[in-house]
Amino acid sequence: MWIGIDDTDSPQGMCTTYLGALLARRLEESGMEIRSLRLVRLNPNIIWKTRGNAAIAIEAEGDPDSAFSIATDLIEELADLSCEKTNPGLVVCGEIRPPATFAEEAITGFCTIEGAIAACGDAGARYRLWKNGRGIIGAVAAVAAEFSDATSEYLVYRDVNLHTSTRFVDPVSLRLAEEMTYPGTWDTCDPGNNLIVCVPHTPDPVLYGIRGNDPVWISLARNLVISEAPVLEAIFETNQGTDAHLLRGSVGTLEKGRSYSVPGIVASPPKTGIGGHVSLEITDGKDHLTCMAYEPTKGFRDSIRALAPGDRVYVCGSYKKRSLNIEKIQVISAPPIRVADAPLCESCGKKMTSAGKDKGYKCRVCG
Ligand code: ATP
Repeated sequence: MWIGIDDTDSPQGMCTTYLGALLARRLEESGMEIRSLRLVRLNPNIIWKTRGNAAIAIEAEGDPDSAFSIATDLIEELADLSCEKTNPGLVVCGEIRPPATFAEEAITGFCTIEGAIAACGDAGARYRLWKNGRGIIGAVAAVAAEFSDATSEYLVYRDVNLHTSTRFVDPVSLRLAEEMTYPGTWDTCDPGNNLIVCVPHTPDPVLYGIRGNDPVWISLARNLVISEAPVLEAIFETNQGTDAHLLRGSVGTLEKGRSYSVPGIVASPPKTGIGGHVSLEITDGKDHLTCMAYEPTKGFRDSIRALAPGDRVYVCGSYKKRSLNIEKIQVISAPPIRVADAPLCESCGKKMTSAGKDKGYKCRVCG
């Protein structure tokens, strides 16, 4: 069977991945076998998201009615139901899963609660909605998702009741883990900006998370990390870092709230605006598209600023407010820029000037 959950957290605490990891443990304690834990990243442009728009699916062997009741109890015990923005959803289905097309739309576009309920009906799934029930969208998408590509995340949790933003995770051990396992793992540290990126600063139960290619790489890195004592750990299979949210797009045809990979030619020199945000204009020869590299992307902006008119690129990112928010870029071609200019004088080093038509150059300083 498959169990899907979503929307159990709030900015003040909890995390749906923690609830999923704990649910897996409780199902195991009741005698069920856990086959996999999945962390499914949905459309990053969804305004209702708390953080990274993740939903959780558990693949397990056991009685669906018991699983439904254990999951219901856990959501009521742990979900932050007092928060207006927390609207949990739960689905449990057997071998027949809701259609993968529902998950594709949830990852790249927009779904409705009615659509999610209809998908549950088609699959003969048990489901439950709390409050406005929006979480059923993510829950159904999580069990319906087919991964054509996948990565892994090792999540380590602390006491759910701490509700503080401070954590002890030794930065030296994290840098060592990064050094020993990169590129098999990533997003542990950001050496370019001397930052630790795998430890959150929010009051939720995540102590840290290690992302990587597969369970072996992330386990190697995790074993090098020194931290305060964790209360729970889990390895998730995930679609993060696989570009599952990117649609092929073209300049002039993009829809608001979706993410794209768009080919184009740089139309004008990139501009740095107020606040250090960099804008890049690309064209397909007919229409133009403004692409933005915002200040928090730090050194990435230097790569954008280095582009010049005529360079061919693929730009990837979310389309909103009539511009593409650049996540990454591929430079297809960047022909050398040739500048015709007078040479410097070999004697005094000053710039020479033309000595007249077909007469070469002359140094007007030293003669
Ligand atoms: P957490 O990581 O802890 O789950 P989050 O950042 O994933 O937090 P949620 O609290 O789950 O955010 O809120 C996202 C809400 O948006 C959920 O109710 C989910 O069902 C809904 N949602 C997600 N993707 C879509 C979509 N494509 N269309 C419509 N609703 C969506």
